[in-house]
Amino acid sequence: MENQVEEIKRKLNIVNVIGSYIPLKKKGRHYTACCPFHGEKTPSFMVSEELQIYKCFGCSKAGDMFSFVEEYEKIDFKEALEELAKMAGVQLVKNTQATTAELQKKKLLEINNEVARFYHFMLISHPLGKSALEYVSNRGITKQSIEQFKIGFAPRDSQYISTYLIDKKKYHLHDLVATGTFGVNRYGKSGVYDRFSGRLTFPLLDYRDRVLGFSGRVLPGADTNQAKYINSPETDLYHKSHLLFGLNFAKDAIREQKYVIIVEGEFDMIAPFQHGVKNIVAIKGTAFTKEQLELLHRYTDTLILALDSDFAGSSAARRSIELADTMGFDIKVLSLGDKFKDPDEAIKADPAFFDQQLKKALPIWDFIIQSTVAGNDPTTIKGKKNILEIVLPFLAKITNAVIKDDYIRKLALEIGSTPESIKQEITHYTSPNTPKQISTATSPIPLATKKVNQLEYLCSLIFSAKNPHKVSQKLLKDTPDLFQDIPLIQKLIDLLLASSETVELFHQSLPAELKPTFESIYLKGLSYNFTSDQRRVEIVKVITTLKTMAIKDKLKVLSQKIALLENQDDIDLLSTTVLEYNKLLRLLSQVESSGP
Ligand SMILES: [Zn+2]
Repeated sequence: MENQVEEIKRKLNIVNVIGSYIPLKKKGRHYTACCPFHGEKTPSFMVSEELQIYKCFGCSKAGDMFSFVEEYEKIDFKEALEELAKMAGVQLVKNTQATTAELQKKKLLEINNEVARFYHFMLISHPLGKSALEYVSNRGITKQSIEQFKIGFAPRDSQYISTYLIDKKKYHLHDLVATGTFGVNRYGKSGVYDRFSGRLTFPLLDYRDRVLGFSGRVLPGADTNQAKYINSPETDLYHKSHLLFGLNFAKDAIREQKYVIIVEGEFDMIAPFQHGVKNIVAIKGTAFTKEQLELLHRYTDTLILALDSDFAGSSAARRSIELADTMGFDIKVLSLGDKFKDPDEAIKADPAFFDQQLKKALPIWDFIIQSTVAGNDPTTIKGKKNILEIVLPFLAKITNAVIKDDYIRKLALEIGSTPESIKQEITHYTSPNTPKQISTATSPIPLATKKVNQLEYLCSLIFSAKNPHKVSQKLLKDTPDLFQDIPLIQKLIDLLLASSETVELFHQSLPAELKPTFESIYLKGLSYNFTSDQRRVEIVKVITTLKTMAIKDKLKVLSQKIALLENQDDIDLLSTTVLEYNKLLRLLSQVESSGP
């Protein structure tokens, strides 16, 4: 395995690998990008071609091409290995030591696939699926979409599917139950029952086209006590909070269009999709999760919400909008007015209107103000109160102070009030623990921190030089133990002083426990973008500062010692200490004058 990892690393370049996921910009000897793992507008993500590593100085995520693909695709090492092997054209030696958990996951995926195929077959080719197929067609879903989304039908009698899976495909009962699709019959016949029986089914695929679970919709004429939609329960594969319906089909279009439309439910996603609106995904309900936002963040930073028009009233929706705002998303709202109840209806009846509303999507805060004012009479006291209660919690959470101020003014205008009184009202909705950080920021920085900062800075300057071993041997020769306060760095410097290798080979030869420290320091050093001359001047300057600091510390200790000795009888000790003190003073002035 080790050899294959090395082989892949040899054949691929991290710049191309990461560059195939996010745009990289060359900057001197390294590449930068806005970090794909945390929301940011200015790039703090760095990639080094020389060392084949990356690091984000915003969220500290760091590693090699394998860890990048793992992190980015949210997959494990083995899966990342498969992806990169494909990219490198390396044939992986079949791994016989898959863990039980991996085998189980594979088995469940396989069963889910069979189930999806079975349901789909029942819908399009079996007499039992006839009325379900009619229903889907009547809803305007094309044959092509039925194929693409593998829409299906689960027969009312579970005997059909259990015969197929257990008798024909030889799957075990407990594996079927583990997929979440099936339960064990508690009464009557032995065997399994199908959770989705009698329903129209939609396989829930992840963005890599794997069937993780299903959702099922009741058909006309079903028992009215049944929930309209049900989903697979949480399983080893399916986590509701991680899934975005349609992302596997929409991801390329989202990247191209630079925004994503978010709707509720399968039909609202499929209808616009088959009308050519391809950058669209569906969530369940009106709130989205952090995991879903992280997934979307890989492709875009603009969301257009096309959710139920009264979503502004839901606290779950409010939380998810707050979350998206802090993650740096630009959030807009597609309004269908009173004309249509949802995107499915709108796009079918009037695609031009849908298109036009899409272009006119309102910034989320405008939408919330406008829709709330439209639903309440701002000239009455009760109306004003309602409006404030709905809108202020949203405005209170806007992270950008200028934008926040803007909307406070807009709201004041709408309800005939002043920005000042709204600002006063909004304090009720501001979380009391927000100003906490200020107190730590203003506390004095301990002296030791300054030294540590200087040491780290110096080290990053040395390591990012063209030939770090030469620089260190030249400039650190009379202070080889300068870094002893930071043992990990001192170890690195010791190795460097004894080395005669290029930075690439030096990096490869490092023991695993030193690598992360080295990589971080190295990339930091590259980010300064110094010329060799500038770097040398800077190194000398920092060494001088550090030496000065060390001498001053010693002087302080000695002067305290002298003060104590002056009250004692030991004249000899006093005079040698004073001599030592004077010697240090001379050294200090020498060091200070030798600086650049
Ligand atoms: Zn980051």
